Amino acid sequence: MAIDEIVDGLSEVSCDVLVIGGGTAGPMAALKAKLKNPKANVVLLEKANVKRSGAISMGMDGLNNAVIPGYATPEQYTKEITIANDGIVDQKAVYKYAQNCYKIIEELDSFGIRFLKNENGDYAVKKVHHIGTYVLPMPNGETVKKALYRQLRRARILISNRYMATRLLTSSDGRVAGAISVNTRTAEMLVIKAKAVILCMGAAGRLGLPTSGYMFGTYENAANSGDGYAMAYHAGAALANLECFQINPLIKDYNGPACAYVAGPFGAYTANNEDRRFIECDYWSGQMMLEFFNELQSGKGPVFLQLKHLHDKTIEEIEQTLHKVERPTRGLFQQGRGVDYRHESIEMHISEIGFCSGHSASGVFVDEFARTTVPGLYAAGDMASVPHNYMLGAFTNGSVAGADAMEFADNHDFAAFDAADVAAERERVMAPTKRQDGIPPNQIEYKTRRLVNDYLQPPKVTRKYELGARRLAEVRQDAKERMIARNAHELLRALEAQSILDCADMAVHASLYRQESRWGLYHLRTDYPEKDNENWFCHTLLSKQNGHMVSEKREVEPYVVPIADEEKDLYDKQRIAVGA
Ligand SMILES: Cc1cc2nc3c(=O)[nH]c(=O)nc-3n(C[C@H](O)[C@H](O)[C@H](O)COP(=O)(O)OP(=O)(O)OC[C@H]3O[C@@H](n4cnc5c(N)ncnc54)[C@H](O)[C@@H]3O)c2cc1C
Repeated sequence: MAIDEIVDGLSEVSCDVLVIGGGTAGPMAALKAKLKNPKANVVLLEKANVKRSGAISMGMDGLNNAVIPGYATPEQYTKEITIANDGIVDQKAVYKYAQNCYKIIEELDSFGIRFLKNENGDYAVKKVHHIGTYVLPMPNGETVKKALYRQLRRARILISNRYMATRLLTSSDGRVAGAISVNTRTAEMLVIKAKAVILCMGAAGRLGLPTSGYMFGTYENAANSGDGYAMAYHAGAALANLECFQINPLIKDYNGPACAYVAGPFGAYTANNEDRRFIECDYWSGQMMLEFFNELQSGKGPVFLQLKHLHDKTIEEIEQTLHKVERPTRGLFQQGRGVDYRHESIEMHISEIGFCSGHSASGVFVDEFARTTVPGLYAAGDMASVPHNYMLGAFTNGSVAGADAMEFADNHDFAAFDAADVAAERERVMAPTKRQDGIPPNQIEYKTRRLVNDYLQPPKVTRKYELGARRLAEVRQDAKERMIARNAHELLRALEAQSILDCADMAVHASLYRQESRWGLYHLRTDYPEKDNENWFCHTLLSKQNGHMVSEKREVEPYVVPIADEEKDLYDKQRIAVGA
């Protein structure tokens, strides 16, 4: 049998806790669930291979948001993240993260993942954020995935690689009952019954098209095509603040971060074409991105990361991290271009849009226990709504989700689902394989993402969004009636293309609903250019109700850590005055 030949089969298994997505949050969730009840069955389902999957597959430069005693307090961190998010934060979840993350750092340290320490043996944390100090470098960050994988093997977690989850199963009273998946090498379908399910499927990283034009040249791990967002939506879970897009400042044509988080503490900074620094703080926020965008619009672009003023030895030290740990291809890329940081600044640009709470705030709505609005269903990492989560947030909230989900599973039996739901999903999944001729998935995906760039990239214009919605509906029709998959690999792509379309529709709906501008460039609406706290100081929750997409307001929970009036707008004051 050829590796990608389609096999039309269906089988069923069951487990206590099913974790979907074996990147960062998923392995930690599976581990903690298993440790909570070693007798229980925990399955970790992954579309790729857990050994090298997800955003941390090649490694990580450091922890972007470590709350380490002596450097920062949970209260201070909670305040910073609240201000960075224009106040739209349920603080309980952020505060809980801030209280728990130090324990997780120590645990990761015990796994063999090393963090930078000073001569006294204390963690050497660096300042990148506007207010506090939270960045902890990882000199051997390329080992992170291997170290994690060893723990999974030791705990005897059942790992199912090369299974792509497509839909969740729910009972008639709305409880989660399991998930449906497809083998990405054979197309055989597998139903996994579970008492609790944890979604850890990362960002929606293939929503916009990178300016390089390469479909997989995304900032995010390209396997993260928004399946988690789509699955949560179809299961009836609420998704929060999807209009708060992810947009990042990246290396032009490379689509990885220039990495002011690594180079900034050594004295590097973001500069315009006059070599002038124009923003106070290189920490990524909507307001920072707006200043970046304004600089490009003003004719002062391109924007650069400037290192050439630094000492040769300092640059060498920065290169050690940037060219070896997170993305080893970066050194080769710069070499190919003949860019030596000693003489030339690093050209940057604005990334494609996506959904990601890791860097912004959009995600499946969760509380401080990682519970979604569907009983028994959890979410953690980049796809859950806890803002500015990053890698340590994925580990910490993954750990919270794992423990709580196991408790749920211990106290509930399997929920019953309707066999007709499985049959309907089987028909949807296999439909592209039944056609003899039609449009290949890469064309459906390319067109969707080109339209996303044309119509949805901020600044957001209502008329453009309305036109975008019509064009996307036409692509959806094509996908439904004419898309073909000639082998199992194309079938995977066909399913991903449908998730991307779902995410694009949600981006339109959520953006049109919030009639104000907020989060800097992330939700800049030209028809409503001002922030409107009177009407829109709230979350927006999007969900599927009676088969339709609906958006609603939800109050921000009372703050645990109060924010003084004079602190609220600190992140709005990013621009360095000319002549300063
Ligand atoms: C380029 C880059 C640099 C970064 N640098 C830093 C840094 O220096 N410091 C820091 O703190 N953070 C950093 N981050 C952020 C951090 O890596 C992420 O926030 C974190 O890893 C997200 O974890 P996750 O588990 O949510 O997603 P991921 O780790 O991406 O895992 C998602 C997993 O889900 C799987 N999956 C997706 N769909 C399906 C499906 N349908 N079925 C089954 N499996 C599926 C994917 O294959 C993947 O393995 C960076 C992120 C990127 C992209």
